[in-house]
Amino acid sequence: MEENIYDAVIIGSGLGGLLCGKILSDEGYKVCILEKNNQIGGSLQIYVRDKCIFDSGVHYIGGLEQGQPLYQYFKYFGLMDKLKLKRMDDLGFEEISFGDETKKYYYGMGYENFKKVLIADFPEDRKAIEQYANDMVRICSNFPLYNLEYGEDLINGTEQLSLSAKEYFEQLTSNKRLQNVLAATNILYAGVGDKSPLYVHALVVNSYIVSSYKLINGSSQIANILANSIKKNGGKIYKYAHVVEIITNDELAEAVRLKDGQIIKGKNFISNIDPKELLKMVHSPKIRPIYRNRVNSIESTISVFILNIVLKKNALLYKNSNVYHYQTGDVWEQVHYKEENWPSSYALFYQACSTDDKYASGISLMSYMRYEEVAQWADSYNTIAQKAERGAEYEAFKKDKAEKLLDLLEKKIPNIRELIESYYAATPLTVRDYIGNGDGNLYGGLKDFNNPLKSFFTPRTKITNLLLTGQNLHMHGVYGVTVSAVKTCSELLGMEYLVNKIKQVSQT
Ligand SMILES: Cc1cc2nc3c(=O)[nH]c(=O)nc-3n(C[C@H](O)[C@H](O)[C@H](O)COP(=O)(O)OP(=O)(O)OC[C@H]3O[C@@H](n4cnc5c(N)ncnc54)[C@H](O)[C@@H]3O)c2cc1C
Repeated sequence: MEENIYDAVIIGSGLGGLLCGKILSDEGYKVCILEKNNQIGGSLQIYVRDKCIFDSGVHYIGGLEQGQPLYQYFKYFGLMDKLKLKRMDDLGFEEISFGDETKKYYYGMGYENFKKVLIADFPEDRKAIEQYANDMVRICSNFPLYNLEYGEDLINGTEQLSLSAKEYFEQLTSNKRLQNVLAATNILYAGVGDKSPLYVHALVVNSYIVSSYKLINGSSQIANILANSIKKNGGKIYKYAHVVEIITNDELAEAVRLKDGQIIKGKNFISNIDPKELLKMVHSPKIRPIYRNRVNSIESTISVFILNIVLKKNALLYKNSNVYHYQTGDVWEQVHYKEENWPSSYALFYQACSTDDKYASGISLMSYMRYEEVAQWADSYNTIAQKAERGAEYEAFKKDKAEKLLDLLEKKIPNIRELIESYYAATPLTVRDYIGNGDGNLYGGLKDFNNPLKSFFTPRTKITNLLLTGQNLHMHGVYGVTVSAVKTCSELLGMEYLVNKIKQVSQT
């Protein structure tokens, strides 16, 4: 690694780290991104099994239609002209089902389609559906950067913070089925009924309703395009660069230490990793115990079990929608599942593939799983130095869970087992080792409307040249992390300047 003092040293090459690297290197900053893994991108990583590409995280992105804010952000980042995208079904990009019922419910894309499709299923509830659509748009309008405007989020003391999503649905309509249909994609924010704030639901679900796109051949294309652009700007990206310490003087951060002992110096430092993990590496008294305690006491979002299935050739028709299935009628129950009833729900994503539009090459199933279920194997790590051998018991655990998930899927696709070429399971430990968070959580810290400020981060820490970015600042997801990166870089460049520049560039 070169002996240098970088303008910005970025810890982690997740989407947030790469976007900060892109913004700052475009502005002439000398940036260096340090990634512990052998693949960049964090949750944008893909993996290939039997020639089939699987996303480790991102399965679809909301808000990329021409003119929409995320489109404008992505245009500015140089992504829009290069990404291979597949627009999902206008009249049903999400399919929702319950138990053994043959009835399916759909979300239409764009609020007009969304209302039309749902009102056809719930004609008595027209008013509630219209109200819901209006509320989602209104709530999202309180978040300026989400709409590519500059300004502070208007969350203090408002309904956004003081109402839970579940409560909101209960007030919206007495129709329990409609309540559950409207909340059915809550795995997208790992929703907890008595905790998840309404604004989290609104920001996430609105982004998909306005438009939903899949990434053909996987989401790593985002990371690769950004990385190439950063390198073209003279930025450096180092893989196998595991940061273990932030070296500080009395006031500021001066350098980071890598696991292999190397020291990288910088003027500014941006952390794209879990704040809990970051604080373990910072020993400065500037970070007060009260801040540490607050950060460490933030509850994590739950983790997942993921089953990636390689399908036989021309065996299963590709579906241009995601499927959210619940074995019981209550979509808020699943996060509190009992092991003996697992799995009682799943989200199913069809992999969009460039070689075949008609048949699916692979599908991914996601079902909540608590980290404690795999904690007995927690001492084994999948690291660069060592491929974890977690042993026969762990393999048997995975197989058992995979087969149970297939039993549930079989109710929807009766001959699914005959269509499978092979399958590969990932547990909370896989998520932990690929992302670097302590407990394999899906989306970082859980936001709780009962104590909203607890999980609220500003980009600057008390060490003023150590900034935060990524899913724990603002929001998770591709959209949320994009907003986070702009927030972080605004601290260095000025928000008004940056937002105006993004608007200007995205209109050319
Ligand atoms: C299973 C799953 C499905 C998802 N599905 C979707 C979806 O369909 N659509 C969507 O929009 N979002 C989805 N998300 C959420 C989205 O992927 C994430 O919110 C987002 O990618 C997080 O980006 P980030 O910038 O916070 O970084 P992360 O992706 O968390 O990456 C952090 C990076 O830092 C590195 N790192 C950690 N510690 C160190 C260290 N000490 N030194 C150096 N490097 C380090 C890690 O290796 C990693 O590369 C999903 C997430 C998961 C887990």
